[in-house]
Amino acid sequence: MTLVIFVFTKSVAIEGKKIVDAKVFHNRNLGASARELLNDAVYKSLTVEIQYMKGFKPRQETINQLSLFLNKYLNKPKGINIVLNEIGRRKNTPLTTDSVVAIEIANRTQFVKDDNIALYILFTNSRHVDKRILGTAYRNTSAVIYGKAIRENSNARGKLTRQELETAVLLHETGHLLGLVNKGSRAGSGHIDYDYPDHCTNKKCLMYHATEIKKLSSVLIKGFVPVLDSNCVADLLANGGKQQFLFKPFVKAF
Ligand SMILES: [Zn+2]
Ligand SMILES: [Zn+2]
Repeated sequence: MTLVIFVFTKSVAIEGKKIVDAKVFHNRNLGASARELLNDAVYKSLTVEIQYMKGFKPRQETINQLSLFLNKYLNKPKGINIVLNEIGRRKNTPLTTDSVVAIEIANRTQFVKDDNIALYILFTNSRHVDKRILGTAYRNTSAVIYGKAIRENSNARGKLTRQELETAVLLHETGHLLGLVNKGSRAGSGHIDYDYPDHCTNKKCLMYHATEIKKLSSVLIKGFVPVLDSNCVADLLANGGKQQFLFKPFVKAF
């Protein structure tokens, strides 16, 4: 009798525990984790693993900006943890997205576990085969920033500093992981750029297509890192993002 009860209890415990295959979980299309990242229905905390190759460690201010961005829009009551570690340099040959995926598979250490979801962001020592590309969000929890391309396209007269440009590209790719635009977080208004899929039509928005390519538009003026416009913010909120309560001074009604 005792044994029967034991077996019964054990099976209930297993059924109650959510078992997720991390390999399958992290191998989905861009935007597939938008809602899981934004709301807290299943995942209450987030670990962001940033791996960089020597010489391409993101600046502390960049990490601070990422933390502010994530804490502003994500419902993660148990917290958001950003961990950085260095990985070996690669030969300085241009990368394809397939070779970036191979680097991730060989080095990534943080995966979904219990109620903690994980993101992976790689800063490389080389650029993409397409010189114009500064960064790419390529799977549901993965993005890459091409460090060499960031370095080559920043710090010139009138252009963003290296720290500003890496922040702009990092936050832009994070926006894609959160499902922008209309790729996991449905566009609630007409701001989809049909010429550049997954992007916003507003030239001043962080999710404007030119943020991640070399042909930097007027968006990226020195000293000005773009932010999400109201349409993109509305899409995140509609998909489970954190509501932002504006401070309203209490006025006594007479
Ligand atoms: Zn983009
Ligand atoms: Zn926008």
